[in-house]
Amino acid sequence: MTADGYLNAATVRAWLRLAATAIQEQRDYLTQLDAAIGDADHGSNMSRGFTALRTWLDTRDNDVAPGPLLVEAGVTLAAAIGGASGALWGTALRGAGAALGDDPEFDGMQLAAALDGALDAVVQLGAAAAGDKTMVDALAPAASVLRKQIVSGAGLAAALRATREAGENGMKATALMQARKGRASYLGERSIGHQDPGATSTSLIIGALEEAVNSGRE
Ligand code: ADP
Ligand code: MG
Repeated sequence: MTADGYLNAATVRAWLRLAATAIQEQRDYLTQLDAAIGDADHGSNMSRGFTALRTWLDTRDNDVAPGPLLVEAGVTLAAAIGGASGALWGTALRGAGAALGDDPEFDGMQLAAALDGALDAVVQLGAAAAGDKTMVDALAPAASVLRKQIVSGAGLAAALRATREAGENGMKATALMQARKGRASYLGERSIGHQDPGATSTSLIIGALEEAVNSGRE
């Protein structure tokens, strides 16, 4: 974060790197969750994608604005991951980047627009509604809480903490849902009782956003 409270491309870079670290640390857990209701590849899919993102970031110029950087990150991620989550997170990052436009800096309201852009893109591609037991059940409450917090005048740190908590609560709530989209939907009622892997990785990625925003404060 810059001194006057604005976020910039360094925030986006820190976010993607911290997300990569969190995904790699939880890779086996994500795979276990997917083994219960899917095909046991979510940890390896996400880890492969975010490792590719980190390698790409190491070579990408520092002068790219945050919006185009996120758009390129989405393209890079989608190219590196197979499975539903590659296409979904690819379009999510592109949607977030498109919402930011070409500005070199962005504020909390623009960050809320970026999360909304990510959510809209995921819903447009995957047509999941709230309660279908997907990544949308973590992303939608997080985006909604971030917007409410910023509109009500909360500072970025408090807003992002509430955003991360909303994502975590949404993630936990998927355990009680029956899957209606993706592979887990083939299980019908047997999907109930298991936390959704995509909502879990999404919650990690939102947690990394909080960390990235806070890391620029010291
Ligand atoms: P695959 O299902 O192709 O093996 P992954 O295991 O990597 O891909 O990802 C599974 C996750 O993708 C699910 O846990 C769910 O959160 C998410 N998902 C699947 N289908 C959809 C959809 N239509 N919309 C949103 N998210 C979805
Ligand atoms: Mg899978």
